Amino acid sequence: MMKNERQFLKLALVCCAISLLACNSKQESKQLPAQTSKDTVQTPLTANKAAQVYAKTQVPVLCYHRITEGSKSEYAVTPATFEAHIKILADSGYQAISPDELYDYLVYNKTLPAKPVLISFDDSRIEHIEIAAPTLQKYGFRGVFFIMTITNNKKNYLSTEQIATLSKNGHTIGVHSWDHTMVTKYADTSDWEKQVATPQSKLAKLIAKKVSYFAYPNGVCNHEGAVGMSKYMKLAFILSTKRDSLQPLQTVRRMIVPEWTAQGLLKSMHKTF
Ligand SMILES: [Zn+2]
Repeated sequence: MMKNERQFLKLALVCCAISLLACNSKQESKQLPAQTSKDTVQTPLTANKAAQVYAKTQVPVLCYHRITEGSKSEYAVTPATFEAHIKILADSGYQAISPDELYDYLVYNKTLPAKPVLISFDDSRIEHIEIAAPTLQKYGFRGVFFIMTITNNKKNYLSTEQIATLSKNGHTIGVHSWDHTMVTKYADTSDWEKQVATPQSKLAKLIAKKVSYFAYPNGVCNHEGAVGMSKYMKLAFILSTKRDSLQPLQTVRRMIVPEWTAQGLLKSMHKTF
């Protein structure tokens, strides 16, 4: 190769490299504004892993059953006691959150009010719409009502119309199985279908919303049950027993509230959560 040719080639290569660099820096400068603008770039939400969910501070979750005068049930509270409980929570600065908010807090670290509480009701009793919901609404609260669908439209239990009304009024509807059979007794997929999937889809159709939350009958669940439930529900609730560290979303703790004084309720909440 002649000297001139070599110099020409060198020059051509340098030019090429410069134009490539220019080309790249052009592309970069075009992309920069979009990559650096804080207004347009949103951090993608990364879901917490089980260990991270398990390590988060627990939110107090209350569980009511009957709200009536003269019941012999150890889990019953009178309407006056129920109102005293809701009033002291409101007066103490508590704010009732929804299961959707609890899920977003546990999974995506979304912020909750300073004093959050989730108020839930089991067994689809008629007093849940006659007493519980109006009392909650009086204090600007909302609750989650776990329905066992076998009782729909039966005497002293919620009708399908009342379940739809609760949902329209801003409360959450969840599943409490079909007939209160414990998850630990589900032998095969037909049991899961009957106790979880069918009630879930029936309720979803009734309220025209997704139904993603479950309260275990008797609060009883084992590891297999929690794994099974994770295929259907975003969150499932036990009682104040031990959570499953591998399935923390399927073993969220709740506290049964019996006929306590209002102060007694606050004390128990602080002790349990
Ligand atoms: Zn129950």
